[in-house]
Amino acid sequence: MVKPGDEPRFVSQIYNEAQRMIALVEDIIKLSHLDEGAQDMTYEDVEVLPFCQSIVDRLQAKADKSKVTLSLQGDATSLHVIPQLFESIIYNLCDNGIKYNKENGKVDITVKDELDFVTISIQDTGIGIPREDHQRIFERFYRVDKSHSKEIGGTGLGLAITRSAVTMHHGTIQVASKEGEGTTFTVRIPLSYIP
Ligand code: ATP
Ligand code: MG
Repeated sequence: MVKPGDEPRFVSQIYNEAQRMIALVEDIIKLSHLDEGAQDMTYEDVEVLPFCQSIVDRLQAKADKSKVTLSLQGDATSLHVIPQLFESIIYNLCDNGIKYNKENGKVDITVKDELDFVTISIQDTGIGIPREDHQRIFERFYRVDKSHSKEIGGTGLGLAITRSAVTMHHGTIQVASKEGEGTTFTVRIPLSYIP
């Protein structure tokens, strides 16, 4: 039905739309699994710095493409976590730090051992988040810049998954941001949880 010359463009559009659908379905499955309590997922001890380093390595190509520098530093410490969920937390926050940054920007990941808990902060030099949106960004599908969300990509579920995964670990997540200057997300996970 299409002219031969138009084929590559249509094929690539179909491919991109299919990828968006797959990402959306995967995120919805993840969230409903969390909503149900993720009972089947098991806790393991992870070394926080090497764990974060492997996520940084996976995001390196994306960061290079956006001319953003990733760096990881802090205390060598371990945490008892559900690795798949802990991965979602760090990955989503670093991914946002890259996506909502500026050319020649930075994303710094800092791990701190604070005796009873571990703090992981992800600080970027990006576009920042208006004060009135700080609470709303954790809602499902909420996006600050609705007009450009399609070209930026993603499902708008990243922070909803992140917050739910943090809560599952009895932790907290906080955001501090200044428009035009950058954003810091701080995740605190207790070493042990006594109900
Ligand atoms: P996805 O995570 O599914 O790829 P997303 O990044 O749009 O999509 P969230 O991670 O849930 O979704 O973030 C929600 C919104 O919060 C984003 O669309 C963006 O407007 C804003 N936001 C999140 N992190 C940052 C950040 N570090 N700097 C500026 N804005 C941010
Ligand atoms: Mg995101």
